[in-house]
Amino acid sequence: MIPLMKPLMDEREAQAASRVILSGWVTQGPEVAAFEREFAAFVGAPHATAVSNCTTALHLALLAVGVGAGDEVITVSHSYIATANSVRYCGAEPVFVDVELETYNMDPAKIEAAITAKTKAIMVVHQIGMPADLEAICAIGAKHGLPVIEDAACAIGSEINIGGAWERIGAPRGDIAAFSFHPRKIVSTGDGGMLTTRNPAYDKQFKLLRQHAMSVPDTVRHGSNQVIFETHPVLGYNYRMTDIQAAVGREQLKRVPEIVATRRRLAARYNELLQNNIGLETPAEPANKRSNWQSYSVTLPAHADQRAVMQAMLDAGIATRRGVMCAHREDSYKNGWVLPNSEFAQDRRIILPLFHQMTDEEQITVAETLKKVCAQ
Ligand SMILES: *Cc1c(COP(=O)(O)O)cnc(C)c1O
Repeated sequence: MIPLMKPLMDEREAQAASRVILSGWVTQGPEVAAFEREFAAFVGAPHATAVSNCTTALHLALLAVGVGAGDEVITVSHSYIATANSVRYCGAEPVFVDVELETYNMDPAKIEAAITAKTKAIMVVHQIGMPADLEAICAIGAKHGLPVIEDAACAIGSEINIGGAWERIGAPRGDIAAFSFHPRKIVSTGDGGMLTTRNPAYDKQFKLLRQHAMSVPDTVRHGSNQVIFETHPVLGYNYRMTDIQAAVGREQLKRVPEIVATRRRLAARYNELLQNNIGLETPAEPANKRSNWQSYSVTLPAHADQRAVMQAMLDAGIATRRGVMCAHREDSYKNGWVLPNSEFAQDRRIILPLFHQMTDEEQITVAETLKKVCAQ
């Protein structure tokens, strides 16, 4: 069986976890603080806060920019449902705009028509690692006084060229970026998330709210030779990352450049192997964007039945997934939305296996099988 994804972890991660377990301090502590410093330096952000996963990161990001009951947040339906759910957690409603057909990311041309008096923020997704058109979207945000939150769950190590210089997603261009360390992403801590921002007030709020809004973090209390009584001035959450996860994350972070380089090489190889004259389309990468290829997705020929293609691949021992879901097709978000490009992306695209350890033979098998199945 050729799997869709495999985490790249070995003794380094195992020893990091073991070191923390034997240290006597296992939840949010020195390893989390070090992971935050190293992650911030890696993406080029002044501040980073580690949390339990990317969904809780998005929730804290929305709260920080003031999203609350009755507000609206402009985002895409074509994303994992966590994007829309994080808006609902604030008592607000997502307003879905369609994606464009080159990168399948938020279409900046659709945003202004979706702005109402209730709009509080724009939440853009760098879907499957392909950077969205941040420059255009941030310009619209600035024009209308709307903060931009980047759902960068999949986009660790992805880059965007702004003003002639390459920068990593999370640098940050928008006001806040949120990352995921779920095993389906390119590096993992089991579960985990990270927030980056240039705004120290937001960062302070993230660090307060992730730990029950406790006025004095337990690390400070622990290190003090004075008795300290903590207070809880506002509603907080338990969105902590553990030190065990952070220690694993620090090892994983060191691997990102190598993993991204390998994924780029594998994606380029797929582009070659999948040349065809049957209407199968390989993904586009605009000149000012560099994906980390968290997923490699192709568009099936118009005549092909998605489920049948995926079944034939599975029968041949190859795992695939259909295009990224659309939240507006789920019962919890159905409301007469008209988003044809988003639906096209879900229905006509499939995601192919791509993992660090993938061999050339495995790639050839996937590509040849797919072309054969699609030609039928
Ligand atoms: C994976 C993912 C999330 C959720 O991340 P978790 O860490 O699992 O909470 C949110 N948004 C997008 C676009 C994702 O791909």
